[in-house]
This record gives sequence, structure tokens and C-alpha cells, in this order.
Amino acid sequence: MQIKLKPGKEKSVLNKHPWIFSGAIAKSLDKFSPEVEVLSSSGQFLGRGYFNPASQISCRILTFDNRQIDRSLLQAKIAEAISRRKSILSTINNAARLVASEADQLPGLIVDQYGKILVVQFLTAGMEYYRNIIVDILKELLQPLTIWDRSDEPIREKEGLSQISGLIFGDNFDGLVPIVENGYQLLVDIKNGHKTGFYLDQRNSRLEIKNLASNLRILNCFSYTGGFTIAALLGNANEVISIDMSASALEILDKNLQLNNCKSGSITEKADVFDYLRKAKDRGDQFDMIILDPPKFISSKADIDRAARGYKDINRLAFQLLKPNGLLATFSCSGHMDDLLFQKIIFSAAIEAGCNGQLVKKFMQASDHPILLTFPESSYLKGLLVRKVP
Ligand code: SAH
Repeated sequence: MQIKLKPGKEKSVLNKHPWIFSGAIAKSLDKFSPEVEVLSSSGQFLGRGYFNPASQISCRILTFDNRQIDRSLLQAKIAEAISRRKSILSTINNAARLVASEADQLPGLIVDQYGKILVVQFLTAGMEYYRNIIVDILKELLQPLTIWDRSDEPIREKEGLSQISGLIFGDNFDGLVPIVENGYQLLVDIKNGHKTGFYLDQRNSRLEIKNLASNLRILNCFSYTGGFTIAALLGNANEVISIDMSASALEILDKNLQLNNCKSGSITEKADVFDYLRKAKDRGDQFDMIILDPPKFISSKADIDRAARGYKDINRLAFQLLKPNGLLATFSCSGHMDDLLFQKIIFSAAIEAGCNGQLVKKFMQASDHPILLTFPESSYLKGLLVRKVP
């Protein structure tokens, strides 16, 4: 099977961007194909990928070389992706993203390792087609105890697929799964938690916070299951107040506190962060450090303005709640929010709060969530550590 691009639509493919939108295709196909050859308008070979007419991104390229999409190609790519994580997986970290979709040149496939359990997401019709081969490859390369499916992402519906989850291979398991991150233990809700259960992409930022936390009174907003809370308490924070509106996330946070023997320095409150920050301001509360790690505020470009206001609101309130020289660790995991715009929003928030800020450090997604140069969409998580100054 072949698809041919319209004249002038070759540039992004020649620059190794793996997506081909339906509008770029001159001669298309009317049904799904697990393997198509992508040709330029003049018939030159550009790559091979899978094709799904149900999706706006009709074709995703798996290889820019003229080779078959088969088990050996998938095996080589998965093995390479795994070997690139060798420096992360160790006695102090046994959980990592092993395959990060387009960023590992395997569009539509996520594989996360939590100890001996693998959690997979097949996010496109193409990867769904290769499911059994991929599961076999993972068994062979990693000998997992369990492979669990968390393909319950709404994005599958854009591909004409339903959301599914459940046991694919091996032993079923009950309850929370312990992992080791940065040397401490955390419990992960693989079956019902966000994404594949945990925000692995914040591993490095948590370590940075641990190293800064000593003797501080810290407010951790959007705490989820307490990744930053535990890191800060183990870094000898005086007190960490964790805010989230999810009762189930806070229950796990509580178990994480017990597991790490750091319940005494912790306060948790189920609340809307926007409300909490306003009330804290009215009370005249003050913190040495505030962590803001909100969910994705932007799902499409049209949301940028609204999201910018949301980011500015919480960051303005956070600046107001910081003591002089206090530290704000502020994040955005919205891919549509670029680094510079985010920094400008934080700047406006400081001005509106009547203060200034010094940029102490920039955070980014951990390296098991690589940013592929030819696929800028793979850069999504950014953060700034800002010191409040007059
Ligand atoms: N910092 C976390 C990840 C945060 S995910 C970590 O390191 O693991 C975002 C969290 O924000 C989710 O737990 C979600 O329940 C919570 N949340 C979303 N909107 C909220 C709001 N308005 N107020 C409080 N919590 C909110």
C-alpha cells in the first residue's frame, strides 16, 4: 500500500516529523492499513508507517528507512528505547517510562515499568494492530510478572478505538504497587490512578525539592499521591501542607506518609487549590516554599488564553503567600504552553502580586520522557524555581 503527498507537503517528513495529516495526502486510502509506504508528490520514498483514515493524523511514520514494519523492526526499536533507560533504572529507581511514543520513534506506544509490572498504552489504531507482537516482545525482553493495559485514554476515540484497560499477561494484583523513586518508596495505583498510575515525569524535580526542603514550611498544591510531599519531608522540611481535590489521591498520600514514617510533619486538606490559596491569603498564612503542579489546563490551542489566566491566578496568589526570599516551584504540563509564554505568565503574576522574582532554576520532564528534536510536541513539562524578591 502507498500514499502520496501533495506537492509542497514533504518538508516535515523530510525533517523526520512522524505525523502526516489527512490534508497533506494527495492519493489516500479508504481503510486502515498497518503498513503504508509514504511517497513524495514525485514518487520518492519518504518513510513507512501505519494509516488510519478515521484519524486526522492519518499516517504516523515508524521508519524513515526503507524497511518492512515487522516484528524485528519493532523489537529493535523497543530494545533501543529500553537500553536508553539503563542509567535511570537502578536500586534507587525501579520505575520509569521505557517507551515514550513518538519521542522514542514508536508513535502511539507507551510502556511504563513499575518494578516487575509493565503498564502499556496502545493509543493509536496502528499500535493497537501490533498489540500482540509488542506484548510478546516485552515478555521476551523484560520477563515481567504482569503486563497491565491502561489504554483508557480519551485520545483513542479520535482513532476510532474504545477505551480499554485490564490484565494482558501474567499475575493479577490487588491494591497499590510499591515502587522506589530517588531511593524512597511510593505506592502507585496502577489500575485507577492518573495516566498509568503515577507522574514519573517529575522524578528529577522531586529530587531537587528534596534537596532544598530542609527546615522549610512548604505548601504542596495539586499534590496527587504526594510525590513532592514525601520528597520534601524526607528532605527534612519542617512541615508540608498538601492540597488536592481528589479524596482517593489523598488516601494514597496518607499511605505514602506511613510507609516513609513521615506522618508527623504533614497536613493534608481536600480542597480546590484556587479556593485554598485565597483563604490562606485572607488568613495571612505564609510559606517558605510553594509547589504548584497543576493538571493540564490546555487541551487545544483555543484554551491558551483561559489557561494563561488560570496559571496567572494561582501563581499570583502563591507569590502573595510566600515569605520574603521564599521559593516558588511552578510547573506547567501543557504542551501548548511554551516555555517563554510560561515564564511571561509567571513574570506577570509576580508584578500583580506586587513583588519581583529571581529565576533560580528551570525544571523539565525527566529524561525517560525524552524530547525528540524533530518532534517538538514531545516537550510538554516545564517548571521554574523562582525566589520572591521585593
Ligand atoms: N504533583 C503531582 C501530580 C499532580 S497531578 C505528583 O508529583 O505526582 C494534578 C493533581 O491536581 C491531581 O491529583 C488532581 O486531582 C488535582 N487537581 C486538579 N484540579 C484541582 C483543583 N482545582 N484543586 C485541587 N486539586 C486539583
